Amino acid sequence: MKQYGLYIFDLDGVLYRGDEVIHETPEAIARLKERGALIRFLTNNSSKTRRQYADKLKALGFSSTENDVYSSASATATFLQQANARSVFIVGEEGLREEIETKGVRIDHESADWVVVGICRSLTYELIDQAQDRIRAGARFLATNLDATFPDSGGRIRPGAGSMVAAVSAAADKPPDLLIGKPEPTIVKQIWADTGVTPERTLLVGDRLDTDIQCAINAGCDSALVLTGVQSDPEHLNPKPTYILGSAAEVV
Ligand SMILES: [Mg+2]
Repeated sequence: MKQYGLYIFDLDGVLYRGDEVIHETPEAIARLKERGALIRFLTNNSSKTRRQYADKLKALGFSSTENDVYSSASATATFLQQANARSVFIVGEEGLREEIETKGVRIDHESADWVVVGICRSLTYELIDQAQDRIRAGARFLATNLDATFPDSGGRIRPGAGSMVAAVSAAADKPPDLLIGKPEPTIVKQIWADTGVTPERTLLVGDRLDTDIQCAINAGCDSALVLTGVQSDPEHLNPKPTYILGSAAEVV
């Protein structure tokens, strides 16, 4: 395998499953760093702040700071700041709220010019109603990500942000104007802007074809599919990753 200057790792299904670290991945990432490679972490999950992800990674044996972590929440906040958003109505959780507030964007449910929808485990009729009312009044509709479900421990499937986006979409009678998370290349491009590394020197490592591998293709960099997450069958893959690995520990 070619050596890269920047490795971008998806989290769930790649470095851990729930609270269980995937064998020898902390050691492999430490070795990449010794070689001088940059490491960044990228998750579509918008429920936590970057600090919370960095704390979880540290607890599992990875060396990371919050500046190494990119989530659909932090990328949404960066996007809204750059778009000069005045105020935002949020259908989402504390992680998303905190990231948006940190960027100085006002959260105002009366006159918001943006409606942001992410995973929201306290979703109510009232929230869907207010969101669709703002969108019908002209607010732009942003989805953090479209993952309809996600795998939880014990093989249980749970509703993901895409299910909340679908509810608001149905009520507002329109699809989102904008998607930030994978497979859109937005977050990978933010990482390149922050690190100065080129697409040719970047490898994106993920466990999902429809988000991670498609994101690498959309962004224009190489990708590695690992078989420790949602995709366990290496046959008939579409889209095709650059590499197929048993686990992220094999990137070294
Ligand atoms: Mg994953």
